[in-house]
Amino acid sequence: MQIVDDVTVHVDEGATVQTNANDVTAPNQVEQSASHRIGHCIRSINLILPRRSHLIINVRLNEWERRDTNHKIPYTADEIAEDAAQCHAAGASIVHVHARGPNGGKSNSPELYAEITRKIHARCDVLIHTTLGNVDNPGDAEHRLKHLQASLPDIATVDIGSTNMDRFNAVTGQFKSTDKVYANSIESCTHFAKVMQELGVKPSLGIWTVSFMRTADIFMKMGLLAEPALAIIPLCGGGRIAGHDATPEGLAAFYHAEPNGDLIQWAVCTKHANIFPVAAAAIAHDGHVAPGLGDYQYPELGCPPNADLVAKCAAMSRDIGRPVATPSEARAMLKMKAA
Ligand code: ZN
Repeated sequence: MQIVDDVTVHVDEGATVQTNANDVTAPNQVEQSASHRIGHCIRSINLILPRRSHLIINVRLNEWERRDTNHKIPYTADEIAEDAAQCHAAGASIVHVHARGPNGGKSNSPELYAEITRKIHARCDVLIHTTLGNVDNPGDAEHRLKHLQASLPDIATVDIGSTNMDRFNAVTGQFKSTDKVYANSIESCTHFAKVMQELGVKPSLGIWTVSFMRTADIFMKMGLLAEPALAIIPLCGGGRIAGHDATPEGLAAFYHAEPNGDLIQWAVCTKHANIFPVAAAAIAHDGHVAPGLGDYQYPELGCPPNADLVAKCAAMSRDIGRPVATPSEARAMLKMKAA
């Protein structure tokens, strides 16, 4: 679309208004016509660019990833708090964190989660999103909730269905493991939802496949989840088979299953794959994004820090006319209580 010099102004996708500059003869008529066209263009631009929702960036700082390639993955509580503050400054409104023990080992320690939460709060007002430990925190539903009581994060993940977490190694032609069944029964998910409601912790639903989205819809209809539900769709590369492919097509498979209305605010992340192709699709589709070194270490980008991934997503969003949500704006969008 050309704004002033051309004779054609697009009004919307289906119609155009045409004016012909050769029709005008007198100077005052030229002036009036030009001014009329400029005013018309401004009105048209307002019609063309829809009011876009704010983008929520939920950065996934570390998961259980080791510093194999990228040494900027935060391990300790101090490193996590520093990384969270940098990501907040770059545009993240939520940080998703996993506690890490000595030498970056996996930890589900309630005390460690409390320390992480306290240290992030001391640095910035970003929303804190923790995990129930995925397949690496075995035990009953009550056990998996223990750290929530100790740390009271704003948000915690509930994977609302069951899948296999094993990864296939294309080089050896073998699975790296064959027993990582991630079982989340309806009974467990119901318990998680009820306890989190009592604690004031917002569930972030892990939506690995379309059937998880259907379950989320049913939980909302049953009143087990407050609206809007918050969700992350993990797409999968690198031999992980738990979710759809980490491609725009893998994401598109979810669109038909989204609950109607504004009942769910979903973000996309990419396990073991570069997020930017699907981030572009999600941002264009009014979804949100969850980039981070916890999912992929980005050697092709020179192993950047988490904050660089956040800044890239923020720039993509602003470029297509979507503002980036602050933590307080994200709270309001998710109908969460003020901090
Ligand atoms: Zn996680």
